Amino acid sequence: MSNATNALQGTAPALELGMVICKHCQQLMYTIPTNGVKKIYGVCGQEGCLETVEASEGED
Ligand SMILES: [Zn+2]
Repeated sequence: MSNATNALQGTAPALELGMVICKHCQQLMYTIPTNGVKKIYGVCGQEGCLETVEASEGED
């Protein structure tokens, strides 16, 4: 009947192996719980990186 009482407390905290990295400056923005080490690329939001997003389309 009350088997869900400790569902949260009894669960081991997930390892935050998912690393969200800025693809422009390689800065680690934050980590997220994932099953295994994973790298997710995003944009950190700095002006330089945001500008690069628009300018890097045709980088050659
Ligand atoms: Zn960045």
